[in-house]
Parts: sequence; structure tokens; C-alpha cells
Amino acid sequence: MNRREFMAMGAAAVAAPGVKAAPAGNGGIISHDAPPRNRRPYAGLDWSKVVRVKTTSHGHCISQWWLDQYLKRGFGLITMSNYYPSAPWCPAAKMTKNYWRLHHNHPVMVKGKRVDGPFDWNRIIEPWKGEIDAKAIAKYPSWASNYPFVEGEKIFKPLPPGVLEAPNAEHHGFLLENGKPAANLHICSPGSAFASGTFDAHDLCKTLSHGYHYGSGEFWGTAIDRMIAGFIYPDGGGVTINHPSWTKLDRELMLQLLDHDPRVLGIEVIEDSGHNSENYWDWALSTGRQCFGFFVPDWHVDKKVFGVNVLCVQEKTVRSCLKAYREGNFYGALNGLDELAFTRIAFDGTTVMAATDKPARFEVITARGVVKEQKGTEVSWTVEKEAYWQGPGCHIFARVKAYAADGSGEVLFSQPFMLKG
Ligand SMILES: [Zn+2]
Ligand SMILES: [Zn+2]
Repeated sequence: MNRREFMAMGAAAVAAPGVKAAPAGNGGIISHDAPPRNRRPYAGLDWSKVVRVKTTSHGHCISQWWLDQYLKRGFGLITMSNYYPSAPWCPAAKMTKNYWRLHHNHPVMVKGKRVDGPFDWNRIIEPWKGEIDAKAIAKYPSWASNYPFVEGEKIFKPLPPGVLEAPNAEHHGFLLENGKPAANLHICSPGSAFASGTFDAHDLCKTLSHGYHYGSGEFWGTAIDRMIAGFIYPDGGGVTINHPSWTKLDRELMLQLLDHDPRVLGIEVIEDSGHNSENYWDWALSTGRQCFGFFVPDWHVDKKVFGVNVLCVQEKTVRSCLKAYREGNFYGALNGLDELAFTRIAFDGTTVMAATDKPARFEVITARGVVKEQKGTEVSWTVEKEAYWQGPGCHIFARVKAYAADGSGEVLFSQPFMLKG
């Protein structure tokens, strides 16, 4: 099966019948010939007509209260990244209590083999229902529900007019190339219909004990290929490497993921309630690899520091939003409360420029650290000639950080420009 045929299967990654697991170390299923990650984001954007769409690539949203937190922050695109199972809660209107326990159609790794859905958990669990420990279930009220499962009421009110939505999920439970668990490797894929794992991450219903892997259960490269195959638009969306600081992600593994396919777009930079992974970001960029930064609340939607991706599009559609992710046409915001906005971010091959709608303190950051500070509503920094050399001490990349001057604590982060075209 070639890639085109695979894509033509629609939600291919969800169903994917007949697609064999790729051998470890070789993506196999898809070709990796996508264009490289955009080394000059924002090129071609008409900033006088930019529409800013607030969203995040990694935010859990398990009830109307959670959805309201995103809507209160002015989100224009909802891409809930829930798990157990890691399946898109999209469209939100279809989601009911116990939805995935009763409508599980995606494949699961069962005793090391990928088995296609559907999975009728009520019927599957029946033979061993006596093993279920009610006391253990009571410890996880948010995820547990009584067996046999019954479909409940709708979870969400209709989205307000004009608020877009796209599929996403947080995937986990991957294997390394050597078959060992990739501990703490979590991956989101905004724009992908791919689904993995089961509802039973804590083995409360003994499905893991009976051989059903709770997460991906596959080599991470194979799983990423299936996320890519599941993109609803081939030219939009991407794969993100989640919370590297919080999970102390191995840096070499981070580079392997970035090198696997250009649609692995980058890493989370503000993550898990304000954890800052700029050190990971700058380190990856210093290797000469483009790596976009993502800004996410994860579970922490009750804090002022939130983590917001501000997509810069010319028209507000799902496709243009997902393309903005793919092309790096977005910037990060710590709070995302409209206290400060970039009105321009550009690199003409010589000079990096940025401007904001209100006074700020700017930092231009390269592989050498902060190379320029400026107060006001704009900053520019011209690349020195030696920046084009490959070698120790060169700048390699440049990105702009803007701190609001009004005491609000807002900080904006541009995507990086790779100085060598
Ligand atoms: Zn996670
Ligand atoms: Zn998460």
C-alpha cells in the first residue's frame, strides 16, 4: 500500500486495517519526504491582515467546566488532547459520558500484536469481571465508571459560534527501538484523527492484565507515522514532543524524534503549569535543527500562567489554523490574555525584526544567549557575518522574547528563525 492509498482511507490511522506494523527503526508505513520544517516562519504573512487565533496543542478538557476555561481565555480553536484512551474528543458535540468505553473502534496492541477495533469492552471484560476490585476503582473517580458501562449524557454544550475544533489526543505508552518502554514520552498530534490505547490505563478493569496495552504499545516511530497518516489535512497539523522538562526527556531521544519526520514539529516550551523548557529548545536549535516551540497548560487550566499558542492566519478556518502550526506561523504566550501581542515578526535574511502592540522589553536570543535587549514597541537585530559559519560560537538561530512592560507578567515567544537558509 502506498502513502496515497493509505491517506485515502480517511481516518486511516483510526481504522488502518491491513496495515502491518513497521519494523522497529524503520517508519515504513509512510514516506518521510515532507518538506523540511520551515526555517523562516512568518514569511509571506501580511501582518496588517493577520487574524490571531488562540489555542493550545496540549490541553485536557474533560467536562464543560474545563471547556469554559479555554473559552474564557478567548480560544478560537479547540483541540482537546485527552487520553484513556488517547482518542480525539472531536467533534465535542458527540462526546458522552463513557463514550470511548462504548464506541472504541481504533486498534489496540493485544499481547504485542496490533488488533483492529471495534472493541466491545462490556463483552470483553465479562469473563473476568469477578477480578475487578471496586475499592481500587474508587480511587480514580474521574476515570472509573461502573462495569457494565452505560453511555451517559452529553458532556458539552454546543461550542459558541465561530469557535473551531480539530482532532488531537495525547498519546503515551510507546516503546523504544529496543522494545523497552519509552518512559514518560508523551506526544500530541493536533490535526490528526489517530487514536491509541484503551480507557483502562490503571488496569482497574484488568484489561492490561489480560494483554490489552493501555497506550500505544508500539515503537514510537511507528506510532508517529500513524499520527501523520491520520492528519485531516495533509499540509496541516503536526506532532509535538510534550513536557520535556517535567519528564526529564532524554535529549538524544528528542533529536531522534525531530529527525524522524519533519512533521514532528517541535517541543513544548511552556508546559505543565509554567515549567520552562527553553533550555531544551535552545539546545535543539543550536544543533542547527529547526524546532518549533509549543505553549500549553496541559492539566493546569486554573492558573494565570497558562500556555497559549497564538496562530497567525489570514483567514480563520480549521485548515489555515492547522497550516499555521505546520509552517510555524504562530507565537507563544505565557498568559494569553491579550495583554500583549506581536504585530510583526520577520527575518529578511539579514535582520530579525519584531514589534508589539504595547511597550515591552525585548530579548533577541541566539545560540550565544541573549544578544540584544531593547525597550519599546519594536526591536531589530542584524546578523553578524560569522553567524553563517558552522562552528562553535555562531548564532545559528534567532528568536525574540517580549516581556510586557505593564506589570501583567505576560511574555511572548516568537518561533525561531534558522539563520542559515
Ligand atoms: Zn503528558
Ligand atoms: Zn497532558
